[in-house]
Amino acid sequence: MKEIISEFLDLVKERNAHEPEFLQAVEEVAETVIPYIVKHDIYYGKNVLLRMVEPERLVSFRVCWVDDDGEIQVNRGYRIQMNSAIGPYKGGLRFHPTVNASILKFLAFEQVFKNSLTTLPMGGGKGGSDFDPKGKSDNEIMRFCHAFMSELFRHIGPNTDIPAGDIGVGQREIGFLFGMYRKLRNEFTGVLTGKGMTWGGSLIRPEATGYGTVYFAENMLKTKDDNFDGKTVVISGSGNVAQYAAEKSIQLGAKVLTLSDSSGYIFDEDGIDAEKLKFVMHLKNEKRGRISEYLEEYPNAKFHEGKTPWNEKCDIALPCATQNELDGNDAKALLQNGCMCISEGANMPSTKEAIAEFHKAKILFAPGKASNAGGVATSGLEMTQNSLRYKWTREEVDKKLKEIMADIHQSCKEYGEDEDGYIDYVRGANIAGFVKVADAMLAQGVV
Ligand code: GLU
Repeated sequence: MKEIISEFLDLVKERNAHEPEFLQAVEEVAETVIPYIVKHDIYYGKNVLLRMVEPERLVSFRVCWVDDDGEIQVNRGYRIQMNSAIGPYKGGLRFHPTVNASILKFLAFEQVFKNSLTTLPMGGGKGGSDFDPKGKSDNEIMRFCHAFMSELFRHIGPNTDIPAGDIGVGQREIGFLFGMYRKLRNEFTGVLTGKGMTWGGSLIRPEATGYGTVYFAENMLKTKDDNFDGKTVVISGSGNVAQYAAEKSIQLGAKVLTLSDSSGYIFDEDGIDAEKLKFVMHLKNEKRGRISEYLEEYPNAKFHEGKTPWNEKCDIALPCATQNELDGNDAKALLQNGCMCISEGANMPSTKEAIAEFHKAKILFAPGKASNAGGVATSGLEMTQNSLRYKWTREEVDKKLKEIMADIHQSCKEYGEDEDGYIDYVRGANIAGFVKVADAMLAQGVV
């Protein structure tokens, strides 16, 4: 088995040299899915996984825009259309200086499995730009988004490819992108998700990734007859995902101890309660400030500059910042401090070494492609409402989100449960996600 896996990985490495994040994501899938393929005749010898690691289409384009000083700026835009076997390409746009083909390919690849797990008919894609929104004025953001969409529009559509937000792309950016698409195409359709509530957005979509991450953790804890009540929770990040993961944790009776951004983390031993979280939301979403400014309002808290929060004692950890933010040593520290449940809100925040530590200790660990799928699942619900020209209530969407997260948990259990009852959520998510896409690909022939 080892030889078959390494032969496959050598081939992928040869074709994708210098793409470490993409190779990391492929390696994890290969190690869990290839043994399953070998065991099942219908997949064996069909090169399905080899087809899945090759994007169906990869578009890269120039984005020129004029900054507030009248200077012409040039950025690179991308859209990776990874797999459309079970539905139109679906996935976010990331605006961050680290964005490159490797990062977007890993995200697009993970998205294929994640979207398959949601039970909704969505293929996988991802896009973005190396544009850095930090420190840019509203007008600069608008000009950049308009310039970006003036090329992207010809590659997407409500039945072809439906982008959404990701790091650096929230409702403000989706608004500017949607405005330009609508103007260029002269149509009002659900071509983007994460829209504002008065122009086609879905209730609960802003909350969905964070809420879903917590709902997934709730499902995991339930397998141990446990729940969030009275638990301490350490969260990284302070953007959309972290904010709503914190909100739901608090609602379920847990004490949230930390939040972070790229400059460091805050630790509030009294707990970041609902009122304090409101302050953080205003600070991050309206003022676009730094998390350290929390101390100006709540001086009892501590700020740890340049550090991640994984050395703090907690029951539950929710990594909600970015890829590879939690390494093997962080995992050891979490385990030593008694952490018993990790639910990833970000995409691939734990390194391979960290995941190995969690599995060795047999604690509850959910990979982002399962636990953060609530965001894209609710995007799927937004698409449905747009197609129906209808709007569901908060309660209706939240109920559907909860059901979807429970279904994903069930799929992970079905494909990931060991003989001793331990659930390997990584294996479960990868195989469950794979089977649905692979079946569709086989049914459609070699295309
Ligand atoms: N960017 C989010 C993700 O990683 C959401 C994608 C979407 O809603 O299409 O899943």
